[in-house]
Amino acid sequence: MDKRDYYEVLGVSKDASEAEIKSAFRRLAKKYHPDVSKEPDAAEKFKEAQEAYAVLSDADKRKQYDQFGHAAFSGNGGQGGFDFSSFDFSDIFSDLFGDSFGGGFSSFDGFSGFGGRNSKRPQKGRDTVIRVDLDFEEAVFGTKKTISLTLNEKCDSCDGKGGHGSKKCDNCHGTGTVSSRQQTLFGAFMTQTTCSKCGGRGEIFEDTCNKCHGTGKVRAKKDIEVKIPEGVDTGNQLRIAGKGEAGANGGPNGDIYLEFYVKSHPIFTRDANDIHLLLPISITDAVMGMKKDVPTLEGSVKVNIPAGSQNGDILRLKGKGISDVNYKRKGDMYITLNVIIPRKLDREQKKLFENLADTNLEKEKEFDRINKYL
Ligand SMILES: [Zn+2]
Ligand SMILES: [Zn+2]
Repeated sequence: MDKRDYYEVLGVSKDASEAEIKSAFRRLAKKYHPDVSKEPDAAEKFKEAQEAYAVLSDADKRKQYDQFGHAAFSGNGGQGGFDFSSFDFSDIFSDLFGDSFGGGFSSFDGFSGFGGRNSKRPQKGRDTVIRVDLDFEEAVFGTKKTISLTLNEKCDSCDGKGGHGSKKCDNCHGTGTVSSRQQTLFGAFMTQTTCSKCGGRGEIFEDTCNKCHGTGKVRAKKDIEVKIPEGVDTGNQLRIAGKGEAGANGGPNGDIYLEFYVKSHPIFTRDANDIHLLLPISITDAVMGMKKDVPTLEGSVKVNIPAGSQNGDILRLKGKGISDVNYKRKGDMYITLNVIIPRKLDREQKKLFENLADTNLEKEKEFDRINKYL
């Protein structure tokens, strides 16, 4: 299935302002919210708009999307698109629908797409984004890293339930929900809201777990080993599925996203998969030409500097760039010649230049162009 362009989804132009994006999303959310919309494909449309808004409303994500399109968020080459399950839509939805319009509205869990009102439903754990700093070479060649993080994990004392021994909740009589009347801008609704006493489970514990204090989760430090593929660049994200925070009610764990920041290199600069080097050469090397040792990512190579090279000339070393993180195709290396004019000459060199100056060095076509106007 081809994903639609996010700008097209929201119906805004590529240079739309933050405010335009927000208002476009509000309009779509109002139109397609599955709890109010009568359109047959509302759920799909709503999800699509949520995803587009989650990306385009975030300056960094929008930049990545502008540069790489949907591929910016496809993780390990998957086609899933941007995972917006940890995105906080609450300001928009509370604007639109009011805070009281069912607890499920403001916290989308990405598991079924949109919130229901029954928190017995399995919920995927929250996704975690972790910044990982990489040296230039680590990003170019790939590396293995141990990432330490603190996450909410399932409490092992109560198996994530939050307590021991259970009895029927007296507030909702075991149904997990209570009915109430809600006034919204779409009219009055009878809504079922989650029982606040039992949190929708329909039962309460005889003893609250004292390890997790009833939350079912404990903070735990863990180390994960990750293999970072060659060719990653600043802003790329790597998804580690199912290693994130514990889910609720038997739902799966969230995911971990590693977001990379690549440090600069003292002599190489990177442009996507290409590498650039500014190479100083002497005037005699430029004039006479020579074979010169040049550093590359994979050690030094001999490069032929042609006789008569000009300052700023660019030489290309095919395939001496960086492996593309997805396609393994290699970029190229570009060497820009930087002819250095000597700032100081010893007596001998001065003499040689004086002799050289007596010969006619202004035979090149560039001189003629100007001389005509003298
Ligand atoms: Zn209850
Ligand atoms: Zn516990």
